[in-house]
Amino acid sequence: MMLPPIIRVFFAIDLPQSIRDSVSRFMGSLKKNAKSHAIRWVRPENLHITLQFLAEVRAEHLSQMLANVRQELEGVVKNSSISFTEVHLFPSVFRPRVIVLGVKPQEELVRLAELIGRGIKASHYDIENRLFRPHLTLGRIKQPFSTNLKFLSAAVVPVMEAISVNEVALFYSEPRPEGSRYTVIERIGWCLPMT
Ligand code: ATP
Ligand code: MG
Repeated sequence: MMLPPIIRVFFAIDLPQSIRDSVSRFMGSLKKNAKSHAIRWVRPENLHITLQFLAEVRAEHLSQMLANVRQELEGVVKNSSISFTEVHLFPSVFRPRVIVLGVKPQEELVRLAELIGRGIKASHYDIENRLFRPHLTLGRIKQPFSTNLKFLSAAVVPVMEAISVNEVALFYSEPRPEGSRYTVIERIGWCLPMT
C-alpha cells in the first residue's frame, strides 16, 4: 500500500458484516426518529470500536509498531466475546458530542487497549492517557446545545449475537470531502481459547 509520509491511524476492532447490518438498521431507525440534520451518522462501512488512536505517525515506523504491538498481544490475549449494551451520549449527557453504543465487558477491551498502548509506547509514540471507555460511535452531534436528543430515550437496541474478538486491526484514516475513509493496513490476530 502506498502511504503518505505522515498518517493518521488507529487500532480498532472491526465488526462482522452481520453486526454491521444490524447496527446500520438500528441507526436507520434512530435517524428517522431524530427528524434532524444536525447529526452526522457513521457510514456502516466505517463502524468500528477504537482501542488506540494516533493522530500522526510516520508511515516508515508502522512495521516496527505493528511488530511491537503483536509482541504485546501474542500469548497474552485470549479470544473474547463482546456485546452491545445501551445507547449513551459522550462525553456526557450535559455535553453531548457523540451518540454511542456501549460495549461489554469493558475491562477486557480496556486491557486490550492497554496492551496495544504498550506496543505503541515501545515504538516511541505517546498514547492518550484519558480514561478510556470503549464504545461504538454511531453519530456525531454538530450542534450539541441546539439538537433535540429526546428521541434517544425511546431507542431500543436490537438483540444481536455476541461478537467473538480474535484480532485487532490497524486502520489508516484518510480525510475525504465526504468524511474520513478507513483502510485496514494490517490485522493482528491471536488464537488462545477463551477461559
Ligand atoms: P471525522 O474526523 O472525519 O469526523 P472520525 O473521527 O471517525 O471521522 P478520525 O478522526 O480519523 O475519523 O478518527 C478515527 C477513530 O479514532 C474514530 O473512532 C475516532 O473516534 C477516534 N479518535 C479520533 N480522535 C481521537 C482522539 N483524540 N482520541 C481518541 N480517539 C480518537
Ligand atoms: Mg475525528
